[in-house]
Amino acid sequence: MIDVIVAGGGPTGVMLAIELNLHGVDALVLEKDTEPTKVVRALGMHTRTIEVMDQRGLLARFLAVGKQYPVGGFFAGIAKPTPDRLDTAHPYTLGIPQPTSDRLLTEHATEVGVEIRRGCELVGLSQDEDGVSVELADGTQLRSRYVVGCDGGRSTVRKLLAVGFPGEPTRVETLLGEMEATEDPATVAAIVAEVRKTQLRFGLGPLGDGVYRVVVPAEGVAGDRTVPPTLEEFKHQLRAVAGTDFGVHSPRWRSRFGDATRLAERFRTGRVLLAGDAAHVHPPVGGQGLNLGIQDAFNLGWKLAAEVRGWAPEGLLDSYHAERHPVAAGVLDITRAQMELMSLEPGAQAVRRLVSDLMEFEEVSRYLTEKISAIDVRYEFGEGHELLGRRLRDVQLRQGHLYGLMHGGRGLLLDQTGKLSVAGWADRVDHVVDSSDELDVPAALLRPDGHVAWVGDDQKGLLSRLPRWFGAPVS
Ligand SMILES: Cc1cc2nc3c(=O)[nH]c(=O)nc-3n(C[C@H](O)[C@H](O)[C@H](O)COP(=O)(O)OP(=O)(O)OC[C@H]3O[C@@H](n4cnc5c(N)ncnc54)[C@H](O)[C@@H]3O)c2cc1C
Repeated sequence: MIDVIVAGGGPTGVMLAIELNLHGVDALVLEKDTEPTKVVRALGMHTRTIEVMDQRGLLARFLAVGKQYPVGGFFAGIAKPTPDRLDTAHPYTLGIPQPTSDRLLTEHATEVGVEIRRGCELVGLSQDEDGVSVELADGTQLRSRYVVGCDGGRSTVRKLLAVGFPGEPTRVETLLGEMEATEDPATVAAIVAEVRKTQLRFGLGPLGDGVYRVVVPAEGVAGDRTVPPTLEEFKHQLRAVAGTDFGVHSPRWRSRFGDATRLAERFRTGRVLLAGDAAHVHPPVGGQGLNLGIQDAFNLGWKLAAEVRGWAPEGLLDSYHAERHPVAAGVLDITRAQMELMSLEPGAQAVRRLVSDLMEFEEVSRYLTEKISAIDVRYEFGEGHELLGRRLRDVQLRQGHLYGLMHGGRGLLLDQTGKLSVAGWADRVDHVVDSSDELDVPAALLRPDGHVAWVGDDQKGLLSRLPRWFGAPVS
């Protein structure tokens, strides 16, 4: 019996397997493709994902290959300076093509012993009280205690569970690819600048050596979006939108994407869960999909591990849906809002100009940046201190920095009083007595995902919160 089968070896599935492994749980990742894709979808990581990597000691490998950009300017592509007073130690966006970030995650997973089986497509599943039976396309049968569908927007797992996926279908489609162009770079840049005044779903981004990332609206909506567009289709659409095909040739890869916006009705069905694009899809404007998936995995990993290891308190695994479903709904909404602002309709353009003016106010700009970067996320933990339910930013301590103490993925009591104790939970929660000029509370209890579960200075209050997240004490 395998502990957890993860269907899908994209960023969500691999991140989840890394988290499960960190918590001593065996995860088998099944990936249908035999080779990693060359298609570059996501172009980078937002602040909360960067923080997540820092919390697990993985950030250095991403920083080594990524390019840092100011965080301002991601909301509907409206360029604005980075707002002041962002509550993070990482106020930047990290530009990394998705195949590279996928590779880095996969390398780490493999290093720590996660098995990723390529060429394995999940085609069937059924569950009973003790576990889940999984069938692969080649007829292989596997059995695990849990299954998590991280198998992308067309999720087989979600369909097999018959989980509803309400929302809006694709109405516009965009062609995306990397290819060479014979037109001289200055002319390309000038034409692109001119076309983008009225068509924001268009661009030829230079990648060096005469190669461009080409984005252009499709003529209609393809019956089967898994079939890549032809080079001729690109040329035709470039001519239609820009009046020239720029002499594009020799494509490295070609793909198409839609603007469907949908949210799974439930993220858990018994022993089977959904995460990442399998649970929610939305257009790429704002660049949040990969980030959202990695953050789903970060929320789910320790909870599922606690369930498998037998110490999960009542309701812990269900809190995954309770916490992440509203976050995903919020991302879908802010994406819908951005899509409206990208419309060419005169009314929408007028609202875009108005929003752009409003973003001159630092508070507005900060509000939107916190949303896009996901540092605004606050889970519903009940009444209490303003930090309760939020992730705590990295803070400098006398002996190191907070995130540096969280690599093991355990809970953490950051205690500036020196009077508190986690006796009974010491196997699940680290107790760090230290102080920070950046932390204005006597003590904070952090969950393994860095969200604040309790703030205070009295042992009785602490004892009342520990079981909710960390289960029963051991003597
Ligand atoms: C053009 C474009 C630009 C984007 N830009 C950004 C961006 O800048 N920032 C951002 O955060 N996000 C961006 N996204 C979104 C991002 O690419 C996705 O949200 C992200 O890849 C989701 O990760 P995932 O692991 O959940 O799903 P996927 O990456 O889709 O991975 C799912 C995996 O499951 C496998 N699989 C499918 N079915 C099965 C099966 N039955 N059995 C086994 N394996 C299976 C697939 O082969 C795939 O490898 C963009 C998307 C597009 C289309």
